[in-house]
Amino acid sequence: MKNELAKIFACRQCGHCCHGKTTVSLIPDDLDRMVAYLRLPEAEVKQRYLRETDGVIQMKIVDGHCIFYNQGCSIHPGKPWRCTEWPLHPSIFADPANLGVISDSCPGIKRDVSYEEFCRILRKLIAAR
Ligand code: SF4
Ligand code: SF4
Repeated sequence: MKNELAKIFACRQCGHCCHGKTTVSLIPDDLDRMVAYLRLPEAEVKQRYLRETDGVIQMKIVDGHCIFYNQGCSIHPGKPWRCTEWPLHPSIFADPANLGVISDSCPGIKRDVSYEEFCRILRKLIAAR
């Protein structure tokens, strides 16, 4: 499956997906996993690393990037599932334009693969997740 992945994506470690004014939002499982990984009380994890707006929990932004970004993700095993999913997002199946938008923000997406072939491989990868 690794060979299949390499046909459509290879992370360049550019950090672009961890920069910006917001981050992905967390689901309860994410918070539990993050707390377990950091080995800190939930209240402390929330206070130090997270922000909540209208019930949506996200990581704090520091210096224009996710608080956990430090030349790469510093909580890799405990990161939110949406971070794990990126950039191979199911929205790609809905419209080739979605793949274009994702490609424009992620240099790791292989551009020499047709949309049909990209989707074929991505379906296999998602089925194996
Ligand atoms: S933007 Fe893409 S290539 Fe860059 S770090 Fe994120 S996943 Fe990797
Ligand atoms: S948790 Fe890790 S992968 Fe997700 S945005 Fe923060 S630094 Fe990037």
